[in-house]
Amino acid sequence: MENILEIRDMVVDYGIIRALKGVSLDIPKGKIVVILGANGAGKTTTMHAISGVTKAASGQILFEGEEIRNKQPYVIAKHGISQSPEGRLILSGLTVEENLRIGGYILKSRAQMNRNFEQVYDLFPVLKERRNQQATTLSGGEQQMLAMGRALMSKPRLLMLDEPSMGLAPILVEQIFDIIQELNQHGTTILLVEQNAQMALSVAHRGYVLETGKIVTTGSGEELLEDEAVKKAYLGG
Ligand code: ATP
Repeated sequence: MENILEIRDMVVDYGIIRALKGVSLDIPKGKIVVILGANGAGKTTTMHAISGVTKAASGQILFEGEEIRNKQPYVIAKHGISQSPEGRLILSGLTVEENLRIGGYILKSRAQMNRNFEQVYDLFPVLKERRNQQATTLSGGEQQMLAMGRALMSKPRLLMLDEPSMGLAPILVEQIFDIIQELNQHGTTILLVEQNAQMALSVAHRGYVLETGKIVTTGSGEELLEDEAVKKAYLGG
């Protein structure tokens, strides 16, 4: 199977703290991959190293076969990778549409921007209704949709979602996961970090378990749902 992203022996340090101690993982093209791990395991750090926000001290990050480690974030975005960050990071003082526009900053033309607006609005009609509303006045679920929509404005081939279900009511969590699957069915490869392990593994083609900066287990979503250690640590027994 062709991998869209391959990480080999990636090490990330924050000063004297080694947050990632040689992480290797593969993201097959067209699939959903989830990273599970406790608080502080290094999940967000892994995503930030891929998107170039955090520098990796060593290792390889190959996107479609090309080394992208430590390139500038906008260069990596242009390659076709985008991230919906943990905590959504909605920009205050801006409307919904202005927030989306920022997600499309690498686009070359206004026409392309408008086309992508329409696609995001098709996926999240509520954002269209609220396009001129201050983004910070959106509900939690709507803000999550906005964060995802903003990441989709650049039409990424790899979409990274950091805790998309955080703080949402169960019905909204289901909606978000339906949308993740819909995006995937339309061809977007997805890397997902989730506390909601049950939900994440049920949609994932592959999962990795990260513990204090190291991958300790990998398998298909189904395999990990049945794994005793995973059940105990992440699925409430
Ligand atoms: P969570 O689920 O709590 O978000 P995580 O698995 O995403 O956790 P990271 O945020 O990647 O974990 O953090 C990995 C380790 O690196 C933690 O020990 C954290 O304290 C440390 N760390 C993260 N960012 C920094 C930073 N900017 N400076 C120093 N240490 C950091």
